[in-house]
Amino acid sequence: MKPERAIGLLSSLPASAIEAMQRARFRRTLRLAAEKSSFYREEFRRRGIDVRKIEHPSELGDFFTTGEDLREHGAEAFLTGRADTAFETTGTTSPAPKRAYFSQKEIDEIGRTSALALHLLGLRREDRVLSAFDCSFWISPVVVRSAFQYINCFHVEAGKIEPLEFYERALAYRPNVIFGEPSWIVRLSEIAEARGRWPLKFLFAGGENITETARAAVERVWHAPLYLNYGQTEAFGAIGIECKEKQGYHRNDLNFIFEIVDEDEEGYGELIYTTLTRDVMPLIRYRSTDITRLVDEPCACGLFARRIGKIRARADEMVVCGMGNVGPWVFAEILSDVLTPGADWQAVVKNEGHRDVIELRVEMDDLMSQGDVESRVRSNLRERFADFWRNHEMKLYELEVAAYARGTLRGGRKLQRVVDKRQMLLRRVV
Ligand SMILES: [Zn+2]
Repeated sequence: MKPERAIGLLSSLPASAIEAMQRARFRRTLRLAAEKSSFYREEFRRRGIDVRKIEHPSELGDFFTTGEDLREHGAEAFLTGRADTAFETTGTTSPAPKRAYFSQKEIDEIGRTSALALHLLGLRREDRVLSAFDCSFWISPVVVRSAFQYINCFHVEAGKIEPLEFYERALAYRPNVIFGEPSWIVRLSEIAEARGRWPLKFLFAGGENITETARAAVERVWHAPLYLNYGQTEAFGAIGIECKEKQGYHRNDLNFIFEIVDEDEEGYGELIYTTLTRDVMPLIRYRSTDITRLVDEPCACGLFARRIGKIRARADEMVVCGMGNVGPWVFAEILSDVLTPGADWQAVVKNEGHRDVIELRVEMDDLMSQGDVESRVRSNLRERFADFWRNHEMKLYELEVAAYARGTLRGGRKLQRVVDKRQMLLRRVV
């Protein structure tokens, strides 16, 4: 079915029809999980949950699936069918990656849904896409490739190469749509500002958040909009996508049921999702660790799909920035043989101009040794975290070491190891 026909059809459905479809898909998914996945079978048995009586994820009480469950039990414990491929997500609060498995049929399905979303953003058969999505274990390049085959547009995958090299090699293809990670697109735009831009229809970013000032700077350079996708590897990279209004993400109600738990008085809480169309590795009430809200008011764009507000924060201390997806463990590893015993440290993520700055605050006996500590931090980063170092080489962020006297960092009992001071997307949704 052509994207415009599918959108027309979906728009004509009453909300109750979509909810009925969600419930039917949920019941099927829950039974599949209870029957075939050793993790869910055991958890439901232990908790005395009779899945035949459950109609909606919220009826599962305090049962959730966490990223920790995936790590601890291994993806195999969640499998309900034969997988054709797998992807990884790294860099949360632990160095161990989480794995998620999928079938080719699922990839085709998510490609169709993503094609609808990209069609709404204006992507057409005659467009020329150049993508800088990182192909290493990451799901997004596969999802967009699947979407492109439904749109039939011309596309080339550059992979996540140096923005300067991308800029030079892009000229031969004259792409009018560019895909990449936000911090990478910011850097590419700086180069385009200095060396000249070409006409673009839009830019499309996924994989991390971006400040509105950085987004505005990119759009000024290209005279074209930058749209964001919101996803997680566990969610097939496709939880929600912005429309031309850029006021939150239209949520993917065809493939998920979303809930918010631990809501504050404004409705913000942790986003929880249950997959509805996955046969290989369904997830029941998966904790995203992202803090946001569900927006049910209609969007000015008129699209039937309701929205997820902008992401306020991570529920844990994971920070997504120009360095990559970093958590306390990353800095602890970089500092492991640099700190004097008992010395404290803290990483502060700031945004100066359009680039993220990671200020590593380190307690030192001799404040004059700051330069020495900084060079050891850099060489540890280079040797131990090739990906983060590569982003540093690409100038996607700056890393600074600030010297603090012993005993001055810890104000209270607990020291927050990673502090995100950026003004993230605070333009409020509705
Ligand atoms: Zn909209």
